[in-house]
This record gives sequence, C-alpha cells and structure tokens, in this order.
Amino acid sequence: MNDSSDRRAPGEFDPVRLRRKYRQERDKRLRPDGNEQYLDVSGDYAKFAADPYLESSPGGQPREARSVEVDALVLGGGWAGLTMAARLDEAGVRDFLIVDQAGDFGGVWYWNRYPGVRCDMESYIYMPLLEEIGTVPSEKYAGGPEMLEHARAIGRHYDLYSRALLGTTVTQVVWNERSSRWVVSTDRGDVLHARFVMVGTGPLSRPKLPGIKGIENFRGKAFHSSRWDYRVTGGGWDGRLDKLADQRVAVIGTGASTIQILPHLADSAQRVYVFQRTPAIVNTRGNRPTDPEWYRALEPGWQRKRMDNFVELMAGLPVPDLVDDEATRMARRVAAAVHSGPGAAPDFAAMQAVDFAKMEEIRARVTETVRDPAKAKSLQPWYDYFCKRPLFSDDYYPAFNNDNVTLVDTDGRGVDHITERGIVVDGVEYEVDLIIYSTGFDSGAYTHEAGGYQLIGRGGVSLAQHWQRGMRSLHGMMTSCFPNFFLLGGIEQAAISVNFPHVTSRQAEHVAALTARFLRAGVTVAEVTADAEQRWADELARVHVDRTRYDAECTPSYYNNEGKLDDPKPTVMGGQYGPGPLGYLAVVREWAATGVDRDVAITKASL
Ligand code: NDP
Repeated sequence: MNDSSDRRAPGEFDPVRLRRKYRQERDKRLRPDGNEQYLDVSGDYAKFAADPYLESSPGGQPREARSVEVDALVLGGGWAGLTMAARLDEAGVRDFLIVDQAGDFGGVWYWNRYPGVRCDMESYIYMPLLEEIGTVPSEKYAGGPEMLEHARAIGRHYDLYSRALLGTTVTQVVWNERSSRWVVSTDRGDVLHARFVMVGTGPLSRPKLPGIKGIENFRGKAFHSSRWDYRVTGGGWDGRLDKLADQRVAVIGTGASTIQILPHLADSAQRVYVFQRTPAIVNTRGNRPTDPEWYRALEPGWQRKRMDNFVELMAGLPVPDLVDDEATRMARRVAAAVHSGPGAAPDFAAMQAVDFAKMEEIRARVTETVRDPAKAKSLQPWYDYFCKRPLFSDDYYPAFNNDNVTLVDTDGRGVDHITERGIVVDGVEYEVDLIIYSTGFDSGAYTHEAGGYQLIGRGGVSLAQHWQRGMRSLHGMMTSCFPNFFLLGGIEQAAISVNFPHVTSRQAEHVAALTARFLRAGVTVAEVTADAEQRWADELARVHVDRTRYDAECTPSYYNNEGKLDDPKPTVMGGQYGPGPLGYLAVVREWAATGVDRDVAITKASL
C-alpha cells in the first residue's frame, strides 16, 4: 500500500490505490462456482420455502377445486399482478382470476415479514395505485405492515378477493391449440382455461440458501429471512422478539434484509453473531412522517409525475428533485460530474471520482459510528457504489456498538461450514440456537423458473426450450410460440428502474389495453411474429445496457452473476434497453399506437 496516500487530507484519495484495493477485495471473493454456490429451496430444502403465514391468511382456507373458463389469468399477486388486475378491471376486462401461492396479496410484502422490514424506495413512488386507492403512506419510507395492508386494500378496492385463488401453486401452464386457450393446473386440483395469461412473478420470489457444507446437519432452529418464524422468535414486525432473551442467534449475510433485521436482534437476543462475507454500503436513511398538509395539497396525477421524476433524475436529467433523498442526491451528483455542459461528451473519469468520493464518505461514516475500530475496519466496503444495491439505514451501524453483537468477518470467504451446534469460521465454532439465512433471492431466474411451474407453448415446446439460445421477445413482454401471453417486470429485453414498480405498472397498463382491444375485436390468438422479435433483438444489440466493463471491476453479487461474466443467465441489471425506462416506455407507447397490426399475427373467432 502506498503510505503517502494514507496521509491525505479528508476528502482526498488516491484513485490508483483505491482501484488496487478494490481489485484485491474483489479477487478474494471470486469463486469458480458463481451462481452454483447457492442452494435452491426445493427438494431437501423445501421447508425453507414453506409458508408460515398461510393458516391465518385467506388462502389458507379449504376450498373446492375450480374448473373455469376466464378471459384472463394473472399469475402473481404482488405489485405487478395487482396492478395488472386493477388495470384489466379499469379497461373493462372483468372476467379474470389471480393466482398466487401466497395466502394473501402482497408478493414480497407478504413473504418478507422480518422485524424492521421497510421500503427502501420512497413510499410515494414505490406503492402503486396510491391515488386510486386513497392510501396515505404514514412515512416517507413506510414499513412492511403498511405495504401489506396497501396490497390488501388494492384487493378490496378492485374486488379482487372474489377473483383470486390464493394459497394456490400453479403446477403447469399449457397452450391448447384446439381451444386457443391456456390450460393452467394447480396444486389444489384446479383446471383453469384462460384466453390470456399475464405473469408477474417478480425477481424476489425465490429465496436462495448459501451452499455451505453441513447446512443440513444443524440441529437448532433455522429459517430464511423471507419466511420469518415468529413462533420461534416471539414478537412481531416491530421487533420485541421476546423468545430470544436467552438465545444465541446467527445471521448469515449482510445485505438489504440484514441491515433492517440486525437492530431488532441486537435489542432482543442474548447474543447475535453476524457472519459477513462482503460489507454492505449503508447510507443514511432520514425517514420522516408524511406531512398531511403537503399530501393533501398534491394535485391529481401527482404520483405518476413523481414516479417519472425519480426515473428522470436517475437518468441524469436536469429536472427538479421532487423525491430528494440519498438515491436522487447521488444521481444528481453523478450527473453533475458526468455532463460538464450542454453537448459535452460524458466524462466517465469524473464519474469514477464521484464514486470514489462517495465510498470514502461511506467508509468514514462507519468509523464515525462504530466505536470498536476492529469492527469498523471490517464493516468498510471496498467496491464501486453501483456494484450492489446501495442500502439506507440509520440504525444498522450503531447496532454493532451493542456488547451482545459479534461481527464474524469471513474476509470474503463466507462461512466455512455448519455443524450440528453452530457455524464454523477459521476453525472457531460459534454455537447458536437459531440461524437466520439472510442470503437473498434468485433474482435472475428466468420466467419459466421463477414460478416453479412448467410453461409449455405452441407445439409442446417449453419456454426453457424456446429460449435455449437466449431470450427472444418483443419488449421483454411477448414471445413467439407463446400466444396470448405477457410477461411483466421481465428483467431482460425491457428496462428496469431501481424503483421496480415504475416499469411494471406501465407495462400493466399497456398489456391491459392490448388485451381489452383483442377481446373487443374477437381475437382468439395473438402471437408476436419472429420478425418483430428479431427487430427488437437488433435494436437491443444496437442500444442495450452494457455493464460488462463495470461489472468486471465489481465485487461478486447477483448484479454480475457472482462475478462470472460469461454466465448466460440474465442479471437483474443486464440485457436491458439502453435508453432506460423512459426510452423503453416511449417505444412501447409508440408501438401500441402504430406497431400492433404489423407485429402481431392475429386469429379471430369464425362467425
Ligand atoms: P442480498 O442478496 O442483498 O444479500 C445476501 C447476503 O448473503 C450477502 O451479504 C451475501 O454476501 C451473503 N452470503 C451469501 N452466501 C454467503 C455465505 N456462504 N456466507 C456468508 N454470507 C453469504 O439479499 P437480501 O435479502 O438482503 O436482499 C435482496 C434484495 O431484496 C435486495 O437487493 C433488494 O433488492 C431487496 N430487498 C429490499 C428491501 C427493501 O426495500 N427494504 C429489504 C430487503 C431486500 P456477499 O455480499 O458476499 O455476496
């Protein structure tokens, strides 16, 4: 290490030294098995996916198997599915069903009930349909219970409960040529015949476990953070985990979930061991209650404008910052550095300088907050700011000042192995009563894997086979050989905002309008042509988001396929339309107005 650089004044840094350090840290974490290091929560591990909330949910009630014909079937009852259903209803398509394996609506907010769970995007842009439902978020970053309640309110407002099959897992989705309908089977014996199918399974629906040797041997209690078991911990969403007072708890992982969970474990458990592989980037949160006066004064249509404003800011456009939080402030800072003036070429060196400076601030925040210098050193992240999803919390770092919290820094290797009694790192066995796997989700799962069901299109070809040589689609939403079938929130060949519901809710409007149009016109089969897919593929080849160079420098994570850049699996940030969400949505709008007749092969019912 260059000693002279260590004597720099605050705010000064040596980019060469930092890059060297970042690369050393990245290299420690690169591993040949990439994504394969994780265990799927099926087979022997299926218990980690079981629904602890089902019994007390509407979907937990016994019911007869259904055999029905509907105009549309929406798979998924999270934000995407709910918005889809709401927009179908508004477009006059009322004969539909929503199916979700969860016992209630809510998607990630149904599953993630860990103590402290909270939105990390501003509620006013993240919670869909606020104006339609009349929900007023109580805080700028609302908590999980409010999210779940809002999902239920959407369900009530649009009368979706009467059109929902909850606690119901889809097992097969098969196109029937003769009836020109999708035939959908479920684990409750339902056989549903649908003219149109919309899939909104989302990128956070499949929990993953770390492939740690001996994981099956542990004799204590264990669960995944997205299946929090209050029967084990006591307490509720707000913490007060009263069964943990004499318990030793391990939490594996230090991502978005753990930063919210840890303060509650620190308050409740006898001892907490945090097993860290890579330190997170944790910004300030600055949550605050919603000002009722301000909220009342908002003009109709405000939510749409505010959602757009966020995306515009993230794209570096010089617009007023309505959201004004850590995310948009960083976006503005980057934009100011990258675009030095109208017409000037983007200055990527300046962008890197902003990134280094920001990371120096994060590292300084750690040392200012965490009293124990050894812990503080271990908690400092050494990678570029956008390598992982930046996080926000005002109580994560302070939790390490509690005497009952031990940080076990695995220095990039991860946990060595698990025994009957606990967790081993560097030859030390940490005996614990409970292990919480806060190890994230299979975010890049293709649509045909994410739902866990078979998806079979025209000619008996599965979606997996159809996409064997890579995804083919129009706008990431329609695919040939799969007529009358729409994907929402697709992570490839579309566009994504860190505010996930933005694009998904606009896709839902688009798909609802198309479906209504097709149904009104008596269309029985609507299938995007291979030509249209090819044109979209060509367009993407011309202007796709290429993060390859950035990803190559990054610490491994689900953003870069765990550092294996040659892994063909889509990443949550990769393979997207270059001009970003706004450009993408403009293309979709334009296509809806002028491209449908050209690009969709239509069959109509014979009279
Ligand atoms: P993440 O993928 O962010 O974090 C998983 C953690 O597990 C990482 O710290 C990872 O380390 C660690 N890990 C994996 N394997 C091992 C191992 N063998 N030994 C030790 N540690 C290991 O998962 P989260 O559930 O925290 O978050 C996932 C996503 O969900 C977020 O990115 C966000 O999009 C969303 N989310 C949003 C929230 C919100 O809005 N408030 C809250 C929670 C989640 P490493 O970094 O080294 O890979």
